[in-house]
Amino acid sequence: MEDSEATGPQDPLALLLEVQARDLHLDQLAYRRRQLGERRALEALEARAAELEERSAGVRTERDRLDARLSDLEAHADSYSSRIEAIERRLREGGAYREVQAMSGESESLARHRRQLEDEELEVMEQMEPLEEELGSLSGELAGLAGARREASAALAGAEAVLEGEAAEVAGERGRLAAGLPPDLLATYERLRQRLGGVGAARLADGACGGCHLKLPNSEREHVLHAAPGEVVFCDQCGRILVA
Ligand SMILES: [Zn+2]
Repeated sequence: MEDSEATGPQDPLALLLEVQARDLHLDQLAYRRRQLGERRALEALEARAAELEERSAGVRTERDRLDARLSDLEAHADSYSSRIEAIERRLREGGAYREVQAMSGESESLARHRRQLEDEELEVMEQMEPLEEELGSLSGELAGLAGARREASAALAGAEAVLEGEAAEVAGERGRLAAGLPPDLLATYERLRQRLGGVGAARLADGACGGCHLKLPNSEREHVLHAAPGEVVFCDQCGRILVA
């Protein structure tokens, strides 16, 4: 016996069920691909990173605002210092008593203001300190997450590659099997499959449609069981192709 194909499914409807099985397998692989635990893990890490980035941005804005305030205070303190130095140079040159008194008074007043500015500078620096610390710890945590995300990404790619390999194999089989079907039957099946949740053809089992699981009336059951060769019978309930 040379023709081993003779034992394979020659009947188009039996062949159609083979195609249907491959299509369900492919659907299941696509589902598993979407539901991969590795994808969940990566998404969780990405969500955490986004949260930390957002927190960092907020802290950085506040830190920058204080830093600008600090520069402003320093610039003011510097301008007071310059004015104090200028007054002291003139004081060293001497002058009329009242003029010297007035200049000394001004110098003291400027020095007081400068001290106030310096106190405020210290306060701002104290406020900045915990922010800098938080930024440091956030950036440390983000760096750790970056490594974990790379690993999770690689794990996901690996898991996807396994499922893709399996899907490519099943798709190849499906293509070869589908090529043996009458084009009209294949087109009808594909239209039904698209409309009916992935199942376009079902077997009649225990008197019920394998697609909608409803029992068939006796007359319909007989119709399916004794269909003429090449005749396609549809389930009255769900419209799927019924195969005896
Ligand atoms: Zn049905």
